[in-house]
Amino acid sequence: MFITVLDSTSDPMGTALQEYIRKGKASKLRVLSSLFDEDELPVSLLFRKEKDMSDIERAALDLARGHVLDVGAGAGCHTLALQNKGLEVTAIDISPLSVQVQRERGVRDARLVNLFDPTFAEQYDTILFLMNGSGIIGKLENMPAFFDKMKLLLAKGGRIYMDSSDLRYIFENEDGSMDIDLNAAYYGEVDYQMKYRNIAGPKFDWLYIDFETLSYYASEYGFTVTKILEGSHYDYLACIERQK
Ligand code: SAH
Repeated sequence: MFITVLDSTSDPMGTALQEYIRKGKASKLRVLSSLFDEDELPVSLLFRKEKDMSDIERAALDLARGHVLDVGAGAGCHTLALQNKGLEVTAIDISPLSVQVQRERGVRDARLVNLFDPTFAEQYDTILFLMNGSGIIGKLENMPAFFDKMKLLLAKGGRIYMDSSDLRYIFENEDGSMDIDLNAAYYGEVDYQMKYRNIAGPKFDWLYIDFETLSYYASEYGFTVTKILEGSHYDYLACIERQK
């Protein structure tokens, strides 16, 4: 697995976030993938306030307790909402320019670190993975490494809140059957690359996972999963905790 952080010269999202806070606007943050047509991630979305968040995100914020870890915190929108409620939050991200933005916006503990960095080993009561947070797992084959890491980082009685979506709607026919090649990789494994102006980031793997598959892997590695909420489009919020 890729255990590192981005270089500030190849950090398209962080560059876009910095431009947005300096100028109040940014140009197109482009998202490329071998599976989908080119898309755009509206930079303002990454600065959303709690009132503009989805029910899934607000539920996760309501459920957060104790010392919280916000994994892949971006511009820090969830961290700041929790800090405002008086919680202690550590924000981590592999994007150096995003971590600077987090600090400028008032995130008290913003760290440039990859979740899978073996030296990152403190314990938290709540660990958040939001905005298709399962993506950071990358591929199904990383599930053992992911759950090992969660065993290390999760304090006794702690909980993980993660949102994801089931991409089956992309492959589903009108009669409910699916055009899926069972010999191919899992249908939620996607590759992405971000570009901003002339800055291209590295290609990365991003995992969308259906609830049943997540539950299966969790139970294999000593965790249980509960579905807290379903969104409006195959998306859901899961709570993951250690098996009793
Ligand atoms: N959670 C934020 C941002 C989501 S974008 C929000 O909801 O607005 C995903 C973020 O995860 C990016 O900022 C990216 O740099 C970060 N990221 C990706 N892989 C990571 C990893 N292995 N460890 C920590 N952060 C990671």
